[in-house]
Amino acid sequence: MILTTPTVLAQVIAHCQQEWPQEACGLLLGSPNGGDVQVSAAEPLRNLSRDPRLHFLADPEAWIAFLYADRTEARSLVGLYHSHPTEPAVPSASDADSLWTFPAYWIVSLRNRDTPEVKGYRLEGASGQQKSPLVFREHSIRLIAD
Ligand SMILES: [Zn+2]
Repeated sequence: MILTTPTVLAQVIAHCQQEWPQEACGLLLGSPNGGDVQVSAAEPLRNLSRDPRLHFLADPEAWIAFLYADRTEARSLVGLYHSHPTEPAVPSASDADSLWTFPAYWIVSLRNRDTPEVKGYRLEGASGQQKSPLVFREHSIRLIAD
């Protein structure tokens, strides 16, 4: 289960709406919470893809800085979000083309712009083997009070 607040979710959706019809992307910051992960903040990133309507490439300098940032705060990097401007909130083939596994991976579909759809996934190695393809497992997003 992925726990977050209405404020964080609204911020992520607003960023994706703002970048439409291009894909938006950003970081999810938070902390583990038992077997769950809690997302307490979102950090928009520039999409550096040369084909931003169909792909995203999160600015590596910006997000690697977060990887090595002070982890004494309850704000370590727990995931990524990106939008699908015209497609459903289902991972595409290129979405699995990632070097990193994350406990929180959100896809925001703006196929119907008035009713954005957000789905949460975990991006995991298939069987703990190196070089095995990454697989997405859907994890529900549950809202908790701000
Ligand atoms: Zn995607």
